[in-house]
Amino acid sequence: MRAVRIVGHGEVAVRDVPEPTPSSHDVVVTVTATSVCSTDRKLATRGHDHPCTPGHEVTGLLPDGTAAGIYPEVTCGRCAACRAGWHNRCPDRESIGLARDGGLAELVSVPTSQVVPLGGLDPVTSSMLEPLACAVHAVDVCGVSPGEPAAVVGGGAMGILCGWALQAAGCPVAICQRPGPRQRIAHEMGFDVVFGPESTPRDHLDDAPAAVVVTAPGAAPLQWAVEQVALGGVVHSFAGTPGGALVDANAIHYRHLKLVGSTGSRLSDYRRARDLVASGEIKLDRLPHRVVTLEEAPAAVLERPPDGVLKTIVAMG
Ligand SMILES: [Zn+2]
Ligand SMILES: [Zn+2]
Repeated sequence: MRAVRIVGHGEVAVRDVPEPTPSSHDVVVTVTATSVCSTDRKLATRGHDHPCTPGHEVTGLLPDGTAAGIYPEVTCGRCAACRAGWHNRCPDRESIGLARDGGLAELVSVPTSQVVPLGGLDPVTSSMLEPLACAVHAVDVCGVSPGEPAAVVGGGAMGILCGWALQAAGCPVAICQRPGPRQRIAHEMGFDVVFGPESTPRDHLDDAPAAVVVTAPGAAPLQWAVEQVALGGVVHSFAGTPGGALVDANAIHYRHLKLVGSTGSRLSDYRRARDLVASGEIKLDRLPHRVVTLEEAPAAVLERPPDGVLKTIVAMG
């Protein structure tokens, strides 16, 4: 079968590889679509000791023809985190497309416990259910109440998805994004307020935001959030920052803030993401995306999508 392989530092290529040999707990999924994310780009840039197939945002067909999304966190099932349902906190997890071969291939072998039937959702754009699940999870971790204003820093794909997840939680949402193509997209995505960092959310919302989700990397967006969130509010550090980012501990202390973080999602978040799309509450296909072929996937993994596009989906066709 054909698969996209990370073959070295910054080297990605389509290769012919043997079909996966499933264990007794696994099912071989015929991949329909896999969306590409910045994590794949980081993996490819860093390179692997041995060639591997990226792709953790995957949909496909089960052997019986059922269309399914794949929840990517493969966990031990025994540790305290797993027993409490925090699959994304399992220290021994081997996620699909990260620690084991992923979905940028014609076939992928996954444990049967990872498949979530799509129930009639679009099988191509549903590859974006995985990042939506991460956004749903982040909002859950923030613990916002309906009606509380919230803000998101960054108008990339994760910023828009976190904004939609906050709206689904009942929050009026302001998106902070510098002027440019992404600010225009955020306007079109139906948010109450879109503004640049030269103004503050209080200029636009009735109250300071009770929660700010920071999807832009670096120290400056995090510091901005710590200053702009309401007294006693919560700041979610959603973006990984190469080299790390320091936070002003005095602002956390004197402003009574909660600083939280999360990566990935729980199986329940993935199912909730599917249900939010199935009910029409979140229109996932509105996220500006382009669809490319497997042959075009290596370039899509290595390069950012063009202006006006937030997500690239590889359709196996
Ligand atoms: Zn991702
Ligand atoms: Zn575990």
